[in-house]
Amino acid sequence: AKQRNRGEINYFTREMSVEIQERVMLLQALRQAFDNERLFMVYQPQVSLVTRKAIGLEALIRWRDDDGKFIAPDRFIPLAEHSGLIVNIGEWVMRVACHQQARLARAGYGYLRMAINVSVAQFRHPRFPYMLKRAIEDSGCDPACIELEITESMAMVEADFLLQTLDKLKESGITVAVDDFGTGFSSLSYLQRLKVDRLKIDRAFVNEITDSERGAKIPEMVIQLSHKLGLKVIAEGVEDLAQADVLQNLGCHEAQGYYFGRPMEPSALMDWLAAQKD
Ligand code: C2E
Ligand code: CA
Ligand code: CA
Ligand code: CA
Repeated sequence: AKQRNRGEINYFTREMSVEIQERVMLLQALRQAFDNERLFMVYQPQVSLVTRKAIGLEALIRWRDDDGKFIAPDRFIPLAEHSGLIVNIGEWVMRVACHQQARLARAGYGYLRMAINVSVAQFRHPRFPYMLKRAIEDSGCDPACIELEITESMAMVEADFLLQTLDKLKESGITVAVDDFGTGFSSLSYLQRLKVDRLKIDRAFVNEITDSERGAKIPEMVIQLSHKLGLKVIAEGVEDLAQADVLQNLGCHEAQGYYFGRPMEPSALMDWLAAQKD
């Protein structure tokens, strides 16, 4: 038995080290990709469920490696977070997204909100408020059109720190959404203290909304909660008309998902926006 155990442990550690090696290599590749400008941003429409027209965009990062293969942000963002690289990448993301908002404004789409994902590690950085302010000022975008998406787990853990930082940031006019809402099992008390503007229903819930009566219960609860608290609410991951209609009937204000539009590069986005005008 001892023999076998040892074998298992060796197998286990070998597996571990392969995984760690892979992560180290991926992180190295990510640093290189960032330095060599292989990262780029795409923008996914957010629409009003009443007019079904765009009211905003979410900026999402993309990485295409040297072979033209995409590496998913779910794989590399956690690495960037653990290594601290997210601070620099995140600053770049804010700068690019703010510039895009300003460019859209010059093209007559100044009303479009630009939602930017922000990681905990970024937010904790003492220079974060300054980075955001610089990104806004340098681009000349309207700060009232900039929205930060923070995750529920972050809102929960960092409540006191967030409270101070957010209050200060919000003086410039930016808005704040709580991303992945409902996935964190959090106490809801932070919602009263943090001045958030919007709750974002995670796509895992939206995916089940038309499957059964039960599947709509959590979105329904989140929508009612947002109404009671005077917050806006947006659903992500809407993939068909039925989901959009159910959400609208439940009182959801806004939605985002493949049904309305995929994340797009700027040129495709301009075409998409022009096409929905008439
Ligand atoms: P998220 O913030 O929850 O972003 C929504 C994800 O859902 C995006 O995946 C988007 O492409 C995808 N999505 C949108 N509509 C649909 C749909 O109808 N169906 C399905 N199945 N998926 C849909 P993506 O772009 O792969 O991003 C994954 C996660 O990576 C994001 O989740 C976010 O947590 C993180 N991320 C992406 N860009 C950034 C960034 O610039 N900064 C930071 N810190 N995190 C980012
Ligand atoms: Ca998001
Ligand atoms: Ca989500
Ligand atoms: Ca489904």
